[in-house]
Amino acid sequence: MSRFFSTRHEGLTPYVPGEQPRTPVRIKLNTNELPFPPSQAALDYAAAHTRPLNLYSDPEGHELREALGALFGFSKEEILLGNGSDELIHFCFLAFCDDAHPAVFPNITYGFYPVSATLNRVPFETIPLREDFTLDPADYYACGKTVFLTNPNAPTGRALTVAQIEEIVRRNPENVVVVDEAYVDFGAETALPLVKKYDNVVVLRTFSKSRSLAGGRLGFAIGNRALIADLNTLRNSQNPYNVSSPTTALALGILRDEAQTQKNCAAIAENRTFTIEKLRALGFAVVDSVANFIFVKAPGMSGTAFQAALRAKGILVRHFDDPLITDYNRVTIGTRAQMEEFLAAAAEILEGTK
Ligand code: PMP
Repeated sequence: MSRFFSTRHEGLTPYVPGEQPRTPVRIKLNTNELPFPPSQAALDYAAAHTRPLNLYSDPEGHELREALGALFGFSKEEILLGNGSDELIHFCFLAFCDDAHPAVFPNITYGFYPVSATLNRVPFETIPLREDFTLDPADYYACGKTVFLTNPNAPTGRALTVAQIEEIVRRNPENVVVVDEAYVDFGAETALPLVKKYDNVVVLRTFSKSRSLAGGRLGFAIGNRALIADLNTLRNSQNPYNVSSPTTALALGILRDEAQTQKNCAAIAENRTFTIEKLRALGFAVVDSVANFIFVKAPGMSGTAFQAALRAKGILVRHFDDPLITDYNRVTIGTRAQMEEFLAAAAEILEGTK
């Protein structure tokens, strides 16, 4: 730390993203990307439609917000674009939290929340999940705080129903409920219908998972106009050109082929079921998941030992440095061939421990 670093940030421990190896590994299952790249049609569309790069990108992202609005049934005033949904999470902490509106989220969830809360000097509380990693919605009723829920949750993969989320929204009319749906397309119910009914819910989505665009950095928020206007005030106060022209054109290309996105998600769901069944047959504990990842515990082995053994075979998975989940690893669901290789490696590793 330099002697110039503001003491304001003394308590800040930055988020540690999953490893992005600089040389290709055999199988990368550690950061929940889709194994399928954007379609050729999407790439061709982007090549033909990217705004000239000597010009700034459209600061309001009109065309992309209109396209998203058409797909999800909202007006563009109800949609905001972000440089990844991480940026939108940061804006939500900035916009909807302060000393009078502290934040609350589960003790096991996306690790960016406590970091963003700390950066934005927002007091926060965490509420323990049950032992099986399910969340009790009643823990959040009338909580007097801004609620952050990842649904399905990460890194567990478990989901609440939209009815359960609605109860949380309904019982916190004076607070915003942020529903982070980064993984919703792989099998959970969306909370988007609640945006039409309640003025205190914001849904966050990303192109990083189901839409093959993690490297493009694009997220979007959907909420009522007033909430979106608040977030836009912060966006324009921080980074008005937050979404690049190439990313915008790629996203428009991807949205033109929604059938491909749905096909990709269905393939991942199928590979997930296949992998869970095989792992359980091998003796692994696997949490039920509706996301594009599974949370697994190897029998008779620590989480770090299993991760290291996979790494030695060229397979990356994610381990979290948290005593509550130290026995587990989060494994992204890849192609069928990748999952077959992963399963063979897992079986070999277990064999080696006998
Ligand atoms: N929310 C959750 C729950 C995530 O796991 C991630 C990915 N790390 C994000 C949001 C952020 O994704 P991105 O910034 O790539 O949109």
